Amino acid sequence: MTEMQDNGADAGFMQLALEQAQHAWDLGEVPVGAVVVKDGAVIAVGYNQPIGRHDPTAHAEIQALRAAAEKLGNYRLPGCELYVTLEPCVMCSGAMLHARLSRVVFGASDPKTGACGSVLNLFEQAALNHQTAISGGVMADECGAFLKRFFVERRRAQAAARLVAK
Ligand SMILES: [Zn+2]
Repeated sequence: MTEMQDNGADAGFMQLALEQAQHAWDLGEVPVGAVVVKDGAVIAVGYNQPIGRHDPTAHAEIQALRAAAEKLGNYRLPGCELYVTLEPCVMCSGAMLHARLSRVVFGASDPKTGACGSVLNLFEQAALNHQTAISGGVMADECGAFLKRFFVERRRAQAAARLVAK
């Protein structure tokens, strides 16, 4: 169930997810951000922080799901939508299916680990009893450019560090 959609509300929430991604950037983490929306309001946010937390599962989506579940006092999040700046990986897609989200909206595609259509599509497994709608490519250019800027700056900083070390 993949649909391309880019209405104003989606762009607005994606912008908020990008603001979360900035928090990750500020900590030197790969800048991915996520927000969980219920009834048109953000109820939880998260950003990528596996390095700082020494936690391979601390992706933006997992952080946001945990915060949303705690807030709602429910391990399932029916009626909730998750917005994330980068196509979710297998782990996050699995967690989002467990959470029974109604819809997942992502920005840039991830040709290396994307599990919403790029490498594989966990959301198109007809055998799964819960179906979560997927909307990809919302503000994809902005989200992709944001990540690219981070990696360009990081490579520059690493090159500079190597020069200093010589
Ligand atoms: Zn992930």
